[in-house]
Amino acid sequence: MASISELHKQLIRKERSAVEITQEFLERIQTLEPKLRSFLHVTAAKALEQAKAVDAKIAAGEEIGLLAGIPIAIKDNMCTQGIPTTCGSKILENFIPPYESTVTEKLWAAGAVIVGKTNLDEFAMGSSTENSAYQVTANPWDLQRVPGGSSGGSAAATAARECIVALGSDTGGSIRQPASFCGVVGLKPTYGLVSRYGLVAYASSLDQIGPFGRTVEDAAVLLKAIAGYDPKDSTSLNVTIPEYDKLLKPSFRPRSVLRIGAIKETFGQGLEPAVEAAVTKAIEVLQSLGAEIHVVSCPRFRYGLPTYYVLATSEASANLARYDGVKYGLRAPDADNLVAMYGETRAAGFGAEVKRRIMLGTYALSAGYYDAYYLKAQKVRTLIKQDFQRVFEQVDILVCPTAPSTAFKAGEKTADPLSMYLSDLMTIPVNLAGLPGISIPCGFDEQGLPIGIQLIANNLREDLLLQVAYAYEQATEWHLQRPPLD
Ligand code: GLN
Repeated sequence: MASISELHKQLIRKERSAVEITQEFLERIQTLEPKLRSFLHVTAAKALEQAKAVDAKIAAGEEIGLLAGIPIAIKDNMCTQGIPTTCGSKILENFIPPYESTVTEKLWAAGAVIVGKTNLDEFAMGSSTENSAYQVTANPWDLQRVPGGSSGGSAAATAARECIVALGSDTGGSIRQPASFCGVVGLKPTYGLVSRYGLVAYASSLDQIGPFGRTVEDAAVLLKAIAGYDPKDSTSLNVTIPEYDKLLKPSFRPRSVLRIGAIKETFGQGLEPAVEAAVTKAIEVLQSLGAEIHVVSCPRFRYGLPTYYVLATSEASANLARYDGVKYGLRAPDADNLVAMYGETRAAGFGAEVKRRIMLGTYALSAGYYDAYYLKAQKVRTLIKQDFQRVFEQVDILVCPTAPSTAFKAGEKTADPLSMYLSDLMTIPVNLAGLPGISIPCGFDEQGLPIGIQLIANNLREDLLLQVAYAYEQATEWHLQRPPLD
């Protein structure tokens, strides 16, 4: 199966047209969707229109960029003008955005072809995609299991080759954890590197958009296309974007030793033995490639989960106040008065997990509790950041498992939100600190389910993160395995 650069070569050599490639993917989607359910909307007409425009450029002898004609899937919480954007919620069932998000605008300008909008946990709240109000997506490696979440649709679509690459969003692990469960590459950028304009807000101080790919190189190409300063996002960083994909080399930087720190607190208790074994083996591979391995400690890492669930729910309670039946989407039809209309709209439009979080967050922000919960959590967030700062004085890259387990069975954790929350134990601290993290495939368990290793870099060191991930990928064959779908 082709990568971005291979498809690009085929296009410019006129061996295949963008329309042919697009049709092939649309057919594959049609064949696989009955069992996978990765997509909430397939955008066939728009895809063919975009592909035709690319073919016209090629026919006219114009130069095309790497992403031109490349089929891409978008998580359904990014606004696409004229195309439904539901966030996996009933409350936005009929919402058709009148504007385009910055990331998708950049992609269409680069000639990328949208094959569809992917399924997610409602408002990106969840770790299995089971909180979608519409459908449950299956894991391509075992259809009885979840793809992870909340960007489960994008991860499954990428793993199943329903698209070449996809976009997800990551607030506490929603790109990296599903990447790990589906055996693909998923990267959460430094906070502020990618514009959030047009991303439906969940927890604004944590949300970041990032790429999924089947290879590190594909993820690097997509990251380069979406990164960069955007005056429409007040938290956007004004920095130069490196040519991430061109910096990839099969070995580490030649002159300086790469120091890798394994985070002590993420090993041992609570970790599935197969995950621990695969990640330990991966660290040995990194060592054999010339890295110096250190064991480092992030003692406040373990407070990440409770801190996150105070802060993320607080921000969510504020962000989701806008769904009041007046401005967007659903409105309860028969309410007697305004207050009843708000209440009935929200009762009917939001699912159980979203309601739980709005209540938790409203509570944590309420007078009398604000200091004890919200303010305290902000302080702990600073301490977690300091843990990272300290270890980045000793090492260049951190490694740990992406998730404590491989993909679990659908329905296994739905009755127990706390055990579901534990899925993001190792990814959440990275969001709290605003750092970039990537999950790449590093093995399989005894049931043939993919395992991911997480690499974490210092702020804005996506270049190094991708280089190390690439060197590991080139030394191993995990990324070449395919789910048993065909
Ligand atoms: N699973 C976490 C949550 O439910 C992370 C979600 C995300 O990153 N969007 O909040």
